Amino acid sequence: MDLDIPSLLVVNTLLQTVAALCLLMAALSLPRQAGLSYWAASGFAQAAGLALNSQTGWLGLLSSNFLIFTGYGLAYVGVVRFLGRPVHETWPVLVAGALLAAVFLWFTVGAPESRGRILVSSLFFTTLSAAIAWHLVRHAERDLCPAATVTGALYAAWALLALARAGWALVIDWEGTMQEPHAMKVATRLVIICITTTVTNGYLWMISRRLDSELMQQARQDPLTGVANRRVLWAAGEMEVSRALRHHRALSLLMIDIDHFKAVNDRWGHGTGDALLVAVADCLTRELRRSDILARVGGEEFMALLPETGLEDAWAVAERVRQQTATISLDRPQGAVRCTVSIGVATLGADGHVWEELVTAADQALYRAKDTGRNRTETLSIGPGGLETPLPLAQSGWTA
Ligand code: GH3
Ligand code: MG
Ligand code: MG
Repeated sequence: MDLDIPSLLVVNTLLQTVAALCLLMAALSLPRQAGLSYWAASGFAQAAGLALNSQTGWLGLLSSNFLIFTGYGLAYVGVVRFLGRPVHETWPVLVAGALLAAVFLWFTVGAPESRGRILVSSLFFTTLSAAIAWHLVRHAERDLCPAATVTGALYAAWALLALARAGWALVIDWEGTMQEPHAMKVATRLVIICITTTVTNGYLWMISRRLDSELMQQARQDPLTGVANRRVLWAAGEMEVSRALRHHRALSLLMIDIDHFKAVNDRWGHGTGDALLVAVADCLTRELRRSDILARVGGEEFMALLPETGLEDAWAVAERVRQQTATISLDRPQGAVRCTVSIGVATLGADGHVWEELVTAADQALYRAKDTGRNRTETLSIGPGGLETPLPLAQSGWTA
């Protein structure tokens, strides 16, 4: 099969232009996704370079190759930005690329030599592609897998092929023509066409993974405070209750409600009310263990599920949380904004059955804390006779 280079170049240019247009549309519709505009610019620079590739003479050679080099540089910076890495990380690789481009310039204008140009441009593609592959494999967040791994593997394969091409340029006998053998030109062009199309798919695949994970995150998170939402807590609660009952493990639930929060909004405004909610959520996150599940379940209501935690420990946690919340102070020109919380603690006894029971018990304990003066912790457990106040704690004067 005899493939001619000019036709392959036309195909490559068209594919690269279409890829750049797709990336441009993606960049315009997703302006918050860093790196996308670099990939689109990279695509256009490479397409322009490919369009000029058939030009003869040193000017055509230089403009074509330098546009393609620039395209690779932009693709690399785009990957680094997309992954949220600091841009200064790109400097060593970009400087190495610029040096190789300078040597390419020398082999074009200073001491023109086709073999030298092929050697240097291949080393350029190896360096940039290996750097892109390394970043994608090393720094992509877990949610981007396998898209980032596959795209990184493509770049790694291209880096190795370009290195092999550099090796060929050094050792093969070009029969004195100083022209790259036709078969090598065709093979290189076919590989570049494959890379062009598959890498663009890889970029778009990574973007869709990133958007998917952002959506998942939004579905699980309370947008104001960043803690989990009710949906997450309910799913975890049902699972933890059945686990605790099956393995005879302790499980406790805290229901935490800010006292007189409406008055905070009325006096200080909604913005300050929001800031106080964030401060309380941060305080709760600090005070709880990583294995506990904290969620905002209502306007100024939080719940914390404490696996492997019995009544006394849960009560101690609640008291610590209550005392720490009382130390929160938001400075405002008119004075300091403070708050207290009331907490209902419920513990799953051996006779507990379902998650809803635990929630009801915590809710009733919270009502009791509100009714008896606020800024308090009250406890209920689910025993054989239904909800009951645990006697040892009730008699020891532990409430605030
Ligand atoms: P109590 O001590 O009985 O709990 O009284 P409270 O004022 O805290 O409770 P109430 O249920 O009367 O009022 C809750 C207030 O929380 C009313 C609502 O405007 C406010 N709220 C609900 N969600 C938000 C929010 O996202 N931001 C702000 N700033 N306020 C909110
Ligand atoms: Mg309240
Ligand atoms: Mg409330």
